[in-house]
Amino acid sequence: MDGRGTGEKDAGALAQAAALRRRLRVIATTDLHSALLPFDYFAAQPAPGIGLARAAGLATRLAAAAGLDGGLALLVDNGDFLQGAPLGDFVGLDRGLAADEAHPMIAAMNAAGYAAATLGNHDFDYGLDFLLAALAGARFPVVSANAVLAPGASPRADRTLVPPWTILERRLHDAAGVERPLRIGLIGLLPPQTAVWNAKHLDGRLTVRDMVETAAARVPELREAGAEVVIALAHTGIGPGRAVPGMENAAIPLARVPGIDAIVAGHSHLLFPSAGFAGRAGVSGRRGTIFGRPVAMAGAWGAHLGVLDLDLAHGPGGWRVAGGRGAVRAVGRRGPGGGQQGAAPASPAVLAAAEAWHAETLAYLGRAVGRTLRPISSHFALVAPDPGMALIAAAQTAHVAARLRGTAHAGLPVLAAVAPFKAGGRGGPGFYTDIPAGPLTMRDVADLYLYPNHIRALRLTGAEVLDWLERGAAQFARVAPGAQDAPLIDPAFPSHNFDVMHGMTYAIDLSAPARHGPEGELLDPAASRITDARLGGRPLDPRAEVIVATNDYRAAGGGRFLGAGAARVVLDGAETNRAVLAAWLAAQGTVDPRAAEVWRFRPMPGTTVLFDSAPAAARHLPALGRGDITVAGPGPGGFLRFRLAL
Ligand code: MN
Ligand code: MG
Repeated sequence: MDGRGTGEKDAGALAQAAALRRRLRVIATTDLHSALLPFDYFAAQPAPGIGLARAAGLATRLAAAAGLDGGLALLVDNGDFLQGAPLGDFVGLDRGLAADEAHPMIAAMNAAGYAAATLGNHDFDYGLDFLLAALAGARFPVVSANAVLAPGASPRADRTLVPPWTILERRLHDAAGVERPLRIGLIGLLPPQTAVWNAKHLDGRLTVRDMVETAAARVPELREAGAEVVIALAHTGIGPGRAVPGMENAAIPLARVPGIDAIVAGHSHLLFPSAGFAGRAGVSGRRGTIFGRPVAMAGAWGAHLGVLDLDLAHGPGGWRVAGGRGAVRAVGRRGPGGGQQGAAPASPAVLAAAEAWHAETLAYLGRAVGRTLRPISSHFALVAPDPGMALIAAAQTAHVAARLRGTAHAGLPVLAAVAPFKAGGRGGPGFYTDIPAGPLTMRDVADLYLYPNHIRALRLTGAEVLDWLERGAAQFARVAPGAQDAPLIDPAFPSHNFDVMHGMTYAIDLSAPARHGPEGELLDPAASRITDARLGGRPLDPRAEVIVATNDYRAAGGGRFLGAGAARVVLDGAETNRAVLAAWLAAQGTVDPRAAEVWRFRPMPGTTVLFDSAPAAARHLPALGRGDITVAGPGPGGFLRFRLAL
């Protein structure tokens, strides 16, 4: 009885306190990567748990719920919306936009009622002119404070590509029922690495300032301009706690910039709040806050929404944020039959905006390119030479050798650096290439070469090639001789930095420490895992000169590979690596993809390691012809675990 009475009194007090507050709910997408519809263009089948159409449908519900108790909701996007899924590449690389034609993602965001957006690094992938043409159709402000056309003496004096910030004017009833203006400031930020990753488009045209420095300078400006609430649309992940100049994942230091009330984070394609960030100083997964500031980070592809619920209080100085929390909501859920279904119906307005573009994209992807005599799967690309990567390498090598004919670089050996792009990891157990034998279409080519990179060739020494391989070999954990079921792969290492050098052979010694860390940082210049490196059957001479066929991301310094840099570029083609692959496949007509003899682990008798791949990998194991790899049992998160005897 007593307990019940006290509970009622507490509930009454809480309700009264709540009535004095008003909620501002910020609903955020991030890293949509042109996932417009709940559709997987690679598998050519519905994917109910992803896409802006479904995300916008759920956002409508979440906004309505906020409105029920007198609150206000805003829908915002945090960047990386233009590039990624085949629809984005089709528009950005092949079809282009007619004059005054709205980009399908922008048209859909208009239809969904976005209040504002910022830019991500990948929004520059098709060049500045394309980006500006796409943004011209936006009926909402797009802000970015550190994408700079002309740097000034301080961030506030910079001339930026788009406005650094905006103030949205809204109205909200205070606790006494009086309607008051509410001025919501939004500032945009993106990683400075963008200028390196997209050097092919941005060199000489755009620089990107440090995010923390920019925010510290611009947030006071935003406050001076009248913003009562300041939200950072920060296309950046949750990384180190201490600010270092030029950091890529700066959400924690940004949370400590005075004047920022809350943060929409992203870029890393991870979720916050989530267990993965537990235990870091200042980070509360329970509250969804970092140093008390609400933060939400909604993964990628529109599979989740970030939700910032900010409690606003009105006083003599206007509105201020009195508290709040961050959360994420999944756009898909398990249906009665176990399959995925949408958590809310798709937005009809977005579906209507997408319809014609979807049909055009399907027609483009269905175009025939060639034939393959065998299935092509990437399920073992992290642990063994991979047939799909061998095709890409053959195409790059042939293209570069042909282009260098008659130049001062002709006659040098041409190697091809290729990394597995679809290799599970954060992409989950469905994130693999899995193409059956038979006709190859543009869909398969896009699946094999996922990113809109451009072909590059570098002239390097043998020593630089060896260091390049050391950098990629940082993917692997160190394994003690005789260890049983040791983990093989460092989960912090992105597979797109595991470059395999085709055209030579080498072994990787897992018992040795890695020379580089997962981000490319030099840990120990004397450490060496690459052994028995051979070119043309002979030991690779460190002074030899070779050509390495690669992409613009790597050539500009992406992944921090030694020897990469503008000075070494001997070929910078206008063709994408994907177009090079498509042309080569068409010229071949029919291919018989087999794993090239490129690399192997140095034998460690009596030692076993474990790695994860998709359950579908078991189907491809016999064709791999590797008796040293066996199924070990179920892995985490829907993966299947394999054992490799070294
Ligand atoms: Mn992204
Ligand atoms: Mg990004």
